[in-house]
Amino acid sequence: MYVQKVSLEIKSDAAIDEVVDAFIVLLNFYRGSGQKQGKIESQYVSGNTVTAYPFTLECDSLDKSHNNFYVNRQIEKLETICQSDVQITTIGKSHDDYTGPCTCHKPEFYILKTDYISIDSPVTCGSCNHRVPLYRLPVYEDHGYMPILSWETNYVSCDSLQMNCEVGEQWATRQMQDVRSQLSKQGITICHTIEQLTAIPTYYYLYNYRRRPNKVTQNHCPNCKQPWSLKKRLHRFYDFKCDFCRLISTVSLNT
Ligand SMILES: [Zn+2]
Ligand SMILES: [Zn+2]
Repeated sequence: MYVQKVSLEIKSDAAIDEVVDAFIVLLNFYRGSGQKQGKIESQYVSGNTVTAYPFTLECDSLDKSHNNFYVNRQIEKLETICQSDVQITTIGKSHDDYTGPCTCHKPEFYILKTDYISIDSPVTCGSCNHRVPLYRLPVYEDHGYMPILSWETNYVSCDSLQMNCEVGEQWATRQMQDVRSQLSKQGITICHTIEQLTAIPTYYYLYNYRRRPNKVTQNHCPNCKQPWSLKKRLHRFYDFKCDFCRLISTVSLNT
């Protein structure tokens, strides 16, 4: 990913704490508009300047052309109370070999998928297997993508419980791998909406880490019960895909 520097110098008599609070709101709006990845980032105050270093998927993710109504309104508010402009510069890449997100003109399909350590976009391109910046999708709701990010937070919470093992592990794992769980229902509804908005088939990734998996059951879609094994593993990861139910999954490694 890219690391950006967003800073604002106070050239008025505005109180620093008031500016910091409004600055945090701007960063939250950058997340809701799909421009910024992750909920929090390094942020500090030095003299009269507030600075933050958010992650983005593209070099120009924070460009004005991607701003939504809330981002623009908050920038205007900050610049008015500080009597100066919000400054944005690209610091560099998090990894030297980062090649950027999906640039496919028309992806064959999308996959909704995240995990406990990911701050990438939860929408993956099924053609190139790279992440899709949310601002490339049509507006999902209220100028942004918060319902998708709400599901992402819920999934990350469940995956964290599952990884930590001690509290709610079984419940959280069931949320992730049962097609009828609340988490899956929330995600599948999002997939349907993205597909309606984009006319691109959108699949829900079902986690699979069942103990002693039943080979017969596993080879059939958990929703429509039809065979769903892929002839060839997709992107060296996916083993199952149901085009009817728009579900995609993997063989359980927990044998
Ligand atoms: Zn792509
Ligand atoms: Zn199915």
